[in-house]
Amino acid sequence: MSSRTDLASTLRSLDGRSYGNLKQIRGRYTFGPVTLFIDRVQADPFASPSKVRVRVDRDEAKFPPELTTDRADRIAASDYLQRAGNAVLSGIGQRATILGRPGQEILERTNILIDDAGFEARLLVNLPARGRSILGHQAADILTRDLPEFAQTLFLFHSWSDADSLASADAHHAADAHHATDVHAQSGPSALDLAAHVQLHRDQLELRDHLGEAGLIGFIGNGAILPRQAGDSDRPMDAAAAVGFTSPPELEHTVNLSSGRSLTGMGIPRGVTVIVGGGYHGKSTILRALERGVYPHIAGDGREWVISDPSAASIRAEDGRAVTGDDISAFINNLPSGTDTRAFSTTNASGSTSQAANLVEAVEAGARTLLIDEDTSATNFMIRDERMRALIPAEQEPITPFVDRVRPLLTRGGVSTVLVAGGSSAFFEVADHVIALDAYVPSVVTERAHELVGVSGENLDAHQDHADGTDSDDTGSDGTGPGEPGGGSPAFGAVRRVPTAKALRPASKTKSARAKGTDRIQFGRSFIDLVAVAQLVDAQQTAGVAEALEYLAEIFDGRTSLTEALAEIDGMLEAQGLDGITGHRDHPGHLTRPRTQEIAAALNRYRELRLAH
Ligand code: ADP
Ligand code: MG
Repeated sequence: MSSRTDLASTLRSLDGRSYGNLKQIRGRYTFGPVTLFIDRVQADPFASPSKVRVRVDRDEAKFPPELTTDRADRIAASDYLQRAGNAVLSGIGQRATILGRPGQEILERTNILIDDAGFEARLLVNLPARGRSILGHQAADILTRDLPEFAQTLFLFHSWSDADSLASADAHHAADAHHATDVHAQSGPSALDLAAHVQLHRDQLELRDHLGEAGLIGFIGNGAILPRQAGDSDRPMDAAAAVGFTSPPELEHTVNLSSGRSLTGMGIPRGVTVIVGGGYHGKSTILRALERGVYPHIAGDGREWVISDPSAASIRAEDGRAVTGDDISAFINNLPSGTDTRAFSTTNASGSTSQAANLVEAVEAGARTLLIDEDTSATNFMIRDERMRALIPAEQEPITPFVDRVRPLLTRGGVSTVLVAGGSSAFFEVADHVIALDAYVPSVVTERAHELVGVSGENLDAHQDHADGTDSDDTGSDGTGPGEPGGGSPAFGAVRRVPTAKALRPASKTKSARAKGTDRIQFGRSFIDLVAVAQLVDAQQTAGVAEALEYLAEIFDGRTSLTEALAEIDGMLEAQGLDGITGHRDHPGHLTRPRTQEIAAALNRYRELRLAH
């Protein structure tokens, strides 16, 4: 093991020499409590930056173990340290960075690692040069002075200005009473902020667990700020301009968390919930908040207490996408081409077929809640009105609209739906709950809506089963039950799709999959388009998806189904953490953990996906 003076003198002696000589500084160095790992040295000053890590052991760092032991707590603490670390680094200078600026979500990332042994920051450093010569003295300053200093500031807990405040009798209350409003704005790490961040995350997860037990698929706390600053911003709208959320009394639900926090808001029960209201009254904003409610949010976001079923998937039309072997027969049948829609493939899906594919793929990947907005749906996928049903005989219409499937999806598939539909009353008769928005204020109008279409809450499914019996594709009038072969009953993602062993190893692919921003992955010579995948948070999460595809390539052997492979990744991630997903030899400090849903979404959009059966 080398020491500070070794590395510093090596770097100084390299001053003015050609850049390639820097290679020799790879290795591990200690600076008091800090260990510096130089994992990869850039080949020249214009290449992508060098990769380094700084690490402090637990017995030196002396973090409160109660904040950094549990797995979920570590995720929140890492998230906090990354945000604080960004601020500390910008104080030091711009040469070194932690990749990526976390947004509004608290997510598992590889930028800061907390493990049993200690704390580690993964950094990129641009080692300085003049032309192609090494600037040795400056490099020495960065690597042997600034970075060790950074690690000490961030990881030596007792050096934090308010470290003592947590030692006081009741840390819970200290953190609770302390309102960390905007982590981005913090200048240095704060013990109270860290504790508040970890506690907020715990409370959100506890609320999420509670919702599952209480039969709720979503919760929006009273006072929540749902609208965002702008269409291209995920920050909250100015509180003075926004109308805070208030639950209608009928759906109001109060939860007392073990931290002592009590939350009241709107609980959305399992079932079919339809959101109606005039244009521009906030319908899509609610749905979008629920989409993001699958992730925990930072303090001050406004959506801290907007919590959704973690499997919830946003479903939209996406014409032009490729589809490989999906069973969309629950929605599409009797295509004029004679195509079998129980294993439907196309390189260019229509609006309705793409939405059907998105839906069955989401269910296949484990979604138990679907979020659908009329703004981004194919009308003919969603509804067909009476006159059209009269004009076009069922045999000539390939589409069984979603309105006819939303209840079987629930009663047979256990999948709930939250739907925004301001333009049609068609969903009234299949809705358990109808929520109307008036100037962003929700009220329950279920009874009135049911009256209008002549149904009552009790006969929803009876009514629907009748409607079901008249469907064009219900060839199985022999009374066979749901999902049983030959019954002609709708399959919702039940089909077992098995990719070929080479499915993700096309001959054209010489480089690993790479994220190109949030919405695209380069995979071999092709690109996977993720623009329609609404619940991808940032480029770093897309990078996580790209790594997952590489990992899937190893799993697929012509026998393992897509669902089994996704479960295998999930199990590995739970056991090994996010580092386990990467084959990188140097540090993988650029990944955010994606959900299974988004990994599946990318795989399903890969145009060269081939199935063994
Ligand atoms: P809809 O889907 O009903 O047509 P949107 O959800 O798109 O309406 O919202 C319309 C506009 O109102 C958007 O610009 C949105 O930011 C804003 N908005 C939504 N909810 C609120 C709110 N609670 N307070 C203030 N503005 C809001
Ligand atoms: Mg809308």
